[in-house]
Amino acid sequence: MPAFIVFFGPPGCGKGTQAKKVTEELGLVQVSTGELFRKHLGEKTPLGIKAQEYMSQGALVPDEITIGMVRERLQQPDCQSGVIFDGFPRTGDQAKALDALLSELGGKLNMVIDFALDMNISRARLMGRQEGRADDKPEVIEKRLNDHAKVEASVMPHYNAQPGLVRSVDADRAIDAIYQDVMALVKSTLA
Ligand code: ADP
Repeated sequence: MPAFIVFFGPPGCGKGTQAKKVTEELGLVQVSTGELFRKHLGEKTPLGIKAQEYMSQGALVPDEITIGMVRERLQQPDCQSGVIFDGFPRTGDQAKALDALLSELGGKLNMVIDFALDMNISRARLMGRQEGRADDKPEVIEKRLNDHAKVEASVMPHYNAQPGLVRSVDADRAIDAIYQDVMALVKSTLA
């Protein structure tokens, strides 16, 4: 049975970096909605052009577009080996939609890893990030940080209601230290 895991945390917590390392090591697939949107935008697809209107403002892309894109991604055969979701879900409806999509695949969500990081540290990391992303401008960073509190309030109750599902890691540490903990948690879901 494939593992399906959500990496949850504020922007700048390092969940994308960890998702990349863990999926490469374990042969799982990383599904990052932010990266999928950026890929669509790079290819100038209609979806990418639509998403850009929201992303450039630091706003959430509407659920219908986001969920549709994830559904399409999950139908690709590589996802059968297991998926780490990074940046999804970000709303209560996305969380419910993910449950439905996984049950269509005959699976379920095995774990949510919560990357705990203080907002001030998150801000400092984003301000120092040199990837040249269009949404890494100070005013957009501030909005994404503030919105994360809302994202947390809409997504986490859904998961906290399921005993034992959510596991927390301290994200205010070196990448390798976080990686050790995250790998142990992810491996524990692989039977
Ligand atoms: P970060 O981790 O820095 O917040 P992401 O790469 O996850 O950045 O996302 C970048 C942008 O893409 C978000 O600010 C938002 O506009 C859009 N986005 C990504 N994931 C979602 C989602 N699940 N729902 C709605 N919008 C999303």
